[in-house]
Amino acid sequence: MTRITVAKGDGIGPEIMDVTLEILKAAGAEIEIDEIEVGEKVYLSGNTSGIADKSWDTIRNNKVFLKAPITTPQGGGYKSLNVTTRKFLGLYSNVRPCVSYDPFVSTKHPKMDIVIIRENEEDLYAGIEHQQTDEVVQCLKIISRPGCEKIIRYAFEYAKQYGRKKVTCFTKDNIMKQSDGLFHQVFDEIAKEYPEIENEHWIIDIGAAKMADTPEVFDVIVTLNLYGDVLSDIAAQIAGSVGLAGSANIGESCAMFEAIHGSAPRRAGQNLANPSGLIQGAILMLNHIGQNVVAEKIQNAWLKTIEDGIHTYDIFKDDISTQKVGTKEFAHAVIANLGNKPAKLNAVNYSNGAALNLPKYVRKAAAEKTLLGVDLFVHWSGSNPDELAGIINQANSKKLDLTMITNRGIKVWPAGFEETFCTDHWRCRFKSSSGINISNQDIIDLLQNANNHKIDVIKTENLYAFDGKPAFSLGQGQ
Ligand code: NAD
Repeated sequence: MTRITVAKGDGIGPEIMDVTLEILKAAGAEIEIDEIEVGEKVYLSGNTSGIADKSWDTIRNNKVFLKAPITTPQGGGYKSLNVTTRKFLGLYSNVRPCVSYDPFVSTKHPKMDIVIIRENEEDLYAGIEHQQTDEVVQCLKIISRPGCEKIIRYAFEYAKQYGRKKVTCFTKDNIMKQSDGLFHQVFDEIAKEYPEIENEHWIIDIGAAKMADTPEVFDVIVTLNLYGDVLSDIAAQIAGSVGLAGSANIGESCAMFEAIHGSAPRRAGQNLANPSGLIQGAILMLNHIGQNVVAEKIQNAWLKTIEDGIHTYDIFKDDISTQKVGTKEFAHAVIANLGNKPAKLNAVNYSNGAALNLPKYVRKAAAEKTLLGVDLFVHWSGSNPDELAGIINQANSKKLDLTMITNRGIKVWPAGFEETFCTDHWRCRFKSSSGINISNQDIIDLLQNANNHKIDVIKTENLYAFDGKPAFSLGQGQ
């Protein structure tokens, strides 16, 4: 018997959760349930996190959380509970199988069967944003080696466990050479440990276009948080409907399972919603807790129901469906099919279903880090970079020289173009004048000089080399 935490959520949440639990019970799932309240009511009671402290205790004790969609009220500083849960519980891996059920669910991609494994904790979703000048705001894209190693290893282990043939990595490392570059580099390193699984890398833009056009050429896709967020919704939609896909959020000790869609408030309380997304989430959960026999039984019954043409409004089509049903009737049809297998769709075999057992991340020995210079970011409302260089040059210390100014990453001094549009946010790059390494004290001296000359420094970034290799981007055009 496994104790799980359940939250019924908002909108269509309670309806789809009630029937999902009914199916789990009828199929013989060995679970005990602790129910907690999350979402709109909790938000509107004045708790901006959408969850009470004592509910965290329940989630952390049980470690397995089945969650219906919730409504995040617009504005008012309400934080997305989904993002908070993923980060608090270290749920680094988001797994979304996107499968088409041709010819029973209308799709342009009858052979689609892909699993998108999305990094879930970092990237632009670290949520570190600042306004720095009148005209410029910044969002930090944080990519870590442990973050990359964990998610990429997860993707290969998933492929191994479920007999998948290929893992494809999507990044934009032709542009973001440091951040996406690290993800790609770690992918290449880890791929070598799995010679039996094919691996490949695509630039995200053309890769996403290819996936939307010919998804059958992909198998497992591993990617960064933002790309994975967008890609997995597209994949679910083109497979047939966002209403059909479930997702698992997996961490080292806890896991959360859900439908990928939201709370569809306009459909709430009418027995209309398709419960399939949450049923799929629950099946992923059963595999995770080792109840793969029950998971298989439910999935085959669900496939048979879809194949029988018993469809909710969102996938109902006159020419392929036989019966238009509501949430409850659909679930009862699944229950009636428990023990049956689909005749035309491929029946599943989950004998290999279980939580993946991954090694813990091991920190590598530190590299030799040397400080080569510093970027001073300056708020200045002028427009002529040569004039700014004159002002900034006054701050030069004995150890550091101004070598370049960029605006939004484009080099504007020395030898910039008049045509380049400039904002009030300037990056002034200082490098060691003698070529030897500098110290933090040299940067403090530089900042002191800048302050003496009333230069409005809004932030600094140190320029390092790791093991002798410069580890910062050049200016565009440098
Ligand atoms: P949504 O997924 O709720 O709805 C998008 C469209 O799909 C709507 O037309 C809806 O009617 C339809 N739809 C969704 N699920 C369906 C189902 N099971 N059966 C039939 N039709 C279904 O997205 P939205 O409208 O952008 O968001 C509504 C609310 O949900 C927002 O408050 C949002 O913040 C929240 N949301 C929550 C989660 C989550 O809890 N994991 C995820 C996404 C959105």
